Amino acid sequence: MARIIAVANQKGGVGKTTTAVNLAAALAAGRRKVLLVDFDPQGNATMASGIDKREVRPNGCDVLLDEAGIAEAIVPTEAGYDLLPGNSDLTAAELKLMDAMARESRLKEHLAKVADRYQLIIIDCPPSLHLLTLNALTAADSLLIPVQCEYFALEGLSSLLDTVKAVRQRLNTGLQIEGLLRTMYDVRNNLGNEVSAQLTQHFGDQVLRSIIPRNVRLAEAPSHGQPIHLYDRNSRGAIAYMALATELTRRDRQRKQGAGAASTAAAH
Ligand code: ATP
Ligand code: MG
Repeated sequence: MARIIAVANQKGGVGKTTTAVNLAAALAAGRRKVLLVDFDPQGNATMASGIDKREVRPNGCDVLLDEAGIAEAIVPTEAGYDLLPGNSDLTAAELKLMDAMARESRLKEHLAKVADRYQLIIIDCPPSLHLLTLNALTAADSLLIPVQCEYFALEGLSSLLDTVKAVRQRLNTGLQIEGLLRTMYDVRNNLGNEVSAQLTQHFGDQVLRSIIPRNVRLAEAPSHGQPIHLYDRNSRGAIAYMALATELTRRDRQRKQGAGAASTAAAH
């Protein structure tokens, strides 16, 4: 069964899509079977994967509204991961779902139908905490939070964590924090170092060790419809996302070993 990671932060432009796409590509390059779900009406993850968001039918909207099966809507990408494409139709789906039964668990139900085909499912969320993001958090095993190392970075994190608490109470008791990921980090900028130190102080080892540097190649890659390791595999950005994939894989293995040890201890 796939481990499902939602990439979310209601703050805009912090590196959610860049992280979702390049993490999916880095994991796929390591021969993991990965599905990337573009759950943002902006459709940026779809375009950055080399798929034209204007031409994709069926897409995530059709799936959410039960107008197409999820397997029918999934497409392969050049980088080796599969994609459930998204575009502005998702806004319409979000509105239509407002009055639906079990409206927060739609995505979870659909992903369950394909979860045995993948090792990882990564969901790129829109910059809001509305119904699409709630669906992602309800479906997910864990939440990966990109945080831009700039002023006001911490602002809004408390409402995101309040939402996580509410989701745990009502919708998904098992939701974990995968980690906080420092993005667009610039060593020459003192503010970045300050924000980074504040994050570690507040969140301890929930802050991931991998740091994504500010790197122009990462910003260029989407306009070529390519993840960074296809566009420029030797760039600092590509290396950083490879390191992130390795770190998350290692943490997952440690978590499983921890859970295994706990259940062995309980059996004795
Ligand atoms: P939104 O909230 O609008 O969905 P987002 O959180 O998904 O935004 P991105 O689209 O990933 O953020 O990034 C915002 C902008 O910053 C994009 O133009 C992207 O190319 C650029 N960017 C992201 N990460 C980096 C980086 N590490 N170095 C340089 N540019 C970056
Ligand atoms: Mg985005």
